[in-house]
This record gives sequence, C-alpha cells and structure tokens, in this order.
Amino acid sequence: MDLASLTLRKFHDGLRAGTFSAREIVDEYYRAIDAKDGALHSYLSTNRDAARAAADAADALIAVKKHAPPLAGAPIAIKDNICIAGEPTTAASKILKRYRAVYDATIVKKLRCEGAVVLGKTNLDEFAMGSSTENSAFGSVKNPHDPSRVPGGSSGGSAAAVAANMALAALGSDTGGSIRQPAGFCGVVGLKPTYGAVSRYGLIAMASSLDQIGPIAKTVEDAALLFRAILGPDPHDATAADVAYGGDFIEKPREEIKKMTIGIPKEYFSSNSSAESGLDPEVAEAMNSARHNLERVGVTFKELSLPHTKYALSVYYIIQPAEVSSNLARFDGIRYERITNRHESSITNAYKLKLKDIYFETKSAGFGPEVKRRIMLGTFVLSSGYYDAYYAKAQKVRRIITDEMVKALDPKQGGVDAIFAPTSPTVPFKFGEKTANPLAMYLADVFTIPANLAGLPAISIPVRSRVKDALPIGFQLIGRHWSERDILSLGHRYEKLFE
Ligand code: GLN
Repeated sequence: MDLASLTLRKFHDGLRAGTFSAREIVDEYYRAIDAKDGALHSYLSTNRDAARAAADAADALIAVKKHAPPLAGAPIAIKDNICIAGEPTTAASKILKRYRAVYDATIVKKLRCEGAVVLGKTNLDEFAMGSSTENSAFGSVKNPHDPSRVPGGSSGGSAAAVAANMALAALGSDTGGSIRQPAGFCGVVGLKPTYGAVSRYGLIAMASSLDQIGPIAKTVEDAALLFRAILGPDPHDATAADVAYGGDFIEKPREEIKKMTIGIPKEYFSSNSSAESGLDPEVAEAMNSARHNLERVGVTFKELSLPHTKYALSVYYIIQPAEVSSNLARFDGIRYERITNRHESSITNAYKLKLKDIYFETKSAGFGPEVKRRIMLGTFVLSSGYYDAYYAKAQKVRRIITDEMVKALDPKQGGVDAIFAPTSPTVPFKFGEKTANPLAMYLADVFTIPANLAGLPAISIPVRSRVKDALPIGFQLIGRHWSERDILSLGHRYEKLFE
C-alpha cells in the first residue's frame, strides 16, 4: 500500500471495500517508522501491542457491520503532552521522563470510541514551549523535507510524522501557533479550533487561557474529520463548550463560498510589518500565489487594518509565561518524580532534605533552559509591584486585540468572513539558527499568536509551490468563533484546485 497517497477518507473507503485491513495498514506504518524515524525522531514512544489490538478490533467491527465510524482503524499519532492511561506522557521533559499517565485524555477516549488506532506519542518542545522542537529534552525532530532544517514546533513530531507518512494524521496542541507553524513548515494541514471547542482534560496544561488541542493532517478534509471526532463538551473541562456545530464541515455550497470576503490585514504584509522582521521574500511570493488561487475559488479580498496586532507578541510573552509559572508549579519533586543530579539520592537522604531543597533540586535538574526562562518571566510579571504594570496591562491589551479581530470578522459591522495571513514569516530555518536568541525564536509565531489571544479558529494550509523541491510554506485562514466550517470549506475548495 502506498502510504503517501493515503488519506483518512481513502483509508475509510478502502477498509470498507476490503481493499486492505486496518491491521495491514498499521503494520505498514510501523515498518515506515522503523525505516525512517531513527533519523527523523518524530516519536518518543509507541505501543505496538495496543495499536495492533485496536486495529484488529476495527477489522472485526468492519467484518460484522457494514457501517463503521469514519475513524475506525485509522492510525493516528498523539503529541506527548496528551495523556494515555498507562503510557509514557513526558511532555518531552526530563521531569516526566518516567511518568506514566493515570487516565486517558477526553480526546483519546473520543478517538477510541470512534475506533481509531493510536500509533504512538510524538516529540515536542519541552512542555510545548518553542517553535522548532529544539527544546525537547530528548533530542529534536528533523524536517522530512530537509533534515538540516527544523520541522517547526512545538508539535513538530506530529507534523513530521504526518508529512513523512509515519502516521495518517495526528493531534497536537496550539497555545501560540504550535499546530499551525509546524504544519506550515512540514507541508501539511493544521487546525487550531476555537478556544473551548475541544476538551483539554488530559492535556498537560501550559497556558490555560490559550491552549487548544487540534488536528494535523494531510488534507483539510482529514483535519475536518478529526476535528469532528474530538470536539464537544466535557464534564471534566468547564471550558469545553456545548456548541451545536451540526452539518458538514467542508461542503459549504459553492454559491455561499463565492459570497465570502477575506480580509488582508495590511499590518501583516507591510514591509515594516508587526513581525518587525518583515516577510521572507519566498513567503511573500507564496502569499501572492495563495491569494490568487483563493480568488480562483471565487472569494473577494478586502484590505483591513488590525493596528493592535503589533502588540500581540509582547502580550503573549507576558500572559503565557504567567500561566506557565502557575501551571508548572505542580512539578515540585513530590507530586511527580524527584529529580536530582546528586549521586547520593536515596529515600534516607530525601528525608534529610528541606522542602525547599527538593523543589530547588528537582526544578533545576528537571526543567530545560526555555522552561526555566518562562517560569522566571511569569513569576516576575505576577509578582506584587509588577502585576499591574505587566500582567494586568497585558490582559487589557489582549481585550483590545480580541475586540479588534472580532469586529473585523463581524458580519453586522461589515466584517469579513475570514482573515488571511502567512503562517510564519520565514521558511523552515536551520537547526541552531535561532537557539541563541530567544526573541528571534519568538518571532516565528508572530502571525499565529493573535488567533490564540482572541480564541479564534485558524487553519494553516500548504500553499503548494510549483517550484520543485521548494520548502513548504503555509498560509492561514482565521475565522469567526465557532465558524470552523467557513475556513474548512474554503480550505477544502482551495485544495480541490490542485486535484
Ligand atoms: N512557540 C510558542 C511558544 O513557545 C507557541 C507554543 C505553542 O503553541 N505551544 O510559546
């Protein structure tokens, strides 16, 4: 079976037609992982027995029933900051190196109900902080299109696994761009749903007012299928909203699509753009080509202004670290493992230690430099005397940015149906290129962060360059709250142009 041409849709059809069994395909994926992942390092762990058992169960279901759920038997990879009971869940941190989750995340339960097969857990930047996977405590992931370049991050393992045909689709998490940016860098599709559309119960919390789980897939249609399977309310997560999505996610009628207008925020494209780095010329060119092709689909473009975009990155790097410093306080060496660099570690010695020493030792040895930087930044902006100047101020600016975006998308105020933007200002960069300068690394997310601050859904879709061996470049469509259908349908039409 040619895994490169397989999509979730084709897999489902082939399975029902008896062209192959789920078990055969799962075995094929493990062969691909064995052949390629030594070099790419997308996976941190696999549980092959469980995957094969799930595939057999899907095959048995297909044998007795004509109809099976759309994801029955589908081999999917899961980012390693999402809990699967009994399996390692490390968040790519030394502090959780030996941790095994004690319960399934809600989205994992939902996938199991659909009959999906979990191939394994994918590599990421430690605790999902980063844009290149270079912050993984277990070694970075290579970009399948050019192994000297990063796959993006933090969900770099999920994006690379899908791009290299080592998973049919994957799940990632996106706090400031971690689904869309690696999807863009690896030439696959990534959807960050509306904040609250998908339960985060069982996702290791990073910045709770921004985190959202979403799909990474080969096509928009596949992303829609996965999104449909994981969305919905959850008694374990008060932020997971009960919104009746209904209908089909990608089959919006052509006449409706033709009536859509897409906003181009001038601040994203001006030479001294909010990125303050401008766009790489290749990216600027790719955006023109994406725009041209979207016009062929029938939509109209309209320039608009989002003047507060320029503050988004600064706001994010106050709010995100603040929430990190609170969420990561639990890794104290008592509730999770005690990590020490000292040789004489033993229970007796632990008794002699003061509580403060246990905290200090565990956090010093267990967290990597980026995580420590965020915790310190966050503790600082929340400390008395600085809270109002930084944290409270950032919250106010976040509100302004949100209102500005929501207004630009409000049909009652003449707003557009979606906002168009690059996914990243650059093509995938080389390893080490930005590691010495955290600010340069933070700029990688300048175009993805606004959607997280505003809680809006956003999708990254590969532009599809005609240049042979060109590096992947993604463009984004940012939609209205709970209007994934608009951006998915539009993205689906865009992809159809290339069929
Ligand atoms: N790169 C951003 C950060 O480091 C976003 C990460 C994410 O979305 N998880 O915070």
